[in-house]
Amino acid sequence: MKDLRNMTQAQLIEAMTKIGEKPFRGKQVYEWITKGASGFEEMKNIPANLRVKLAEHYFIDNYRIVEKHEARDGTIKVLGALKDGNLIESVFMTYKHGHSVCISTQVGCKMKCSFCASTINGVVRSLTAGEYLGQIYALQNLTGKRVNNVVLMGSGEPLDNYDETVKFIKMATDQDGLNLSIRNITLSTCGLAPEIRKLADEKFGITLAISLHNPFESERSEIMPVTRKYSIEM
Ligand code: SF4
Repeated sequence: MKDLRNMTQAQLIEAMTKIGEKPFRGKQVYEWITKGASGFEEMKNIPANLRVKLAEHYFIDNYRIVEKHEARDGTIKVLGALKDGNLIESVFMTYKHGHSVCISTQVGCKMKCSFCASTINGVVRSLTAGEYLGQIYALQNLTGKRVNNVVLMGSGEPLDNYDETVKFIKMATDQDGLNLSIRNITLSTCGLAPEIRKLADEKFGITLAISLHNPFESERSEIMPVTRKYSIEM
């Protein structure tokens, strides 16, 4: 079974034509997916027999909220289950300038920052771009509000999942899809230098946040082992 949320519009159009459907069906399905549909029954303009065919080969609901905590200021923290049962966290925040979500990029993390609970059991697996998007759709559906800003700052190191992170940035900013402004995507990293350089070459125009936690090399090394590999000193 394939995750529809992990497919680009072009991939969906190709998949539809391969099963003998007109290309516009791919566009229609993509529109439903990027509007946050979580079940085939919601796709009202898709014929019933095609919906049945789709359900035989694809799934949509890749992130199901299982626990929700709401703070007084309206911040909502959720625990969600991925299709394989792994659990991750995401957060919805309201600011004057709009609504932000903080999403996870991996189940766990291998970077071993001493202050972080996400790394206790290492990394279980990296998420797909579709699972990044699934967190946004789930929080939009939960709150009924459109997300304007996305921060890759949940569990996981986004640059340790480079290809899916890049795919996510392209999909999230697709004008036919979620259509997020590239400037409203912030990627937080503990400092994987080669991937930072690679990302710079993509010329995306996103905001990069480097988690320093301590500006002194020797002290930072003690709490963030990545410093021993990639120094913060010039
Ligand atoms: S890189 Fe981020 S998620 Fe990973 S251990 Fe460090 S603080 Fe935690």
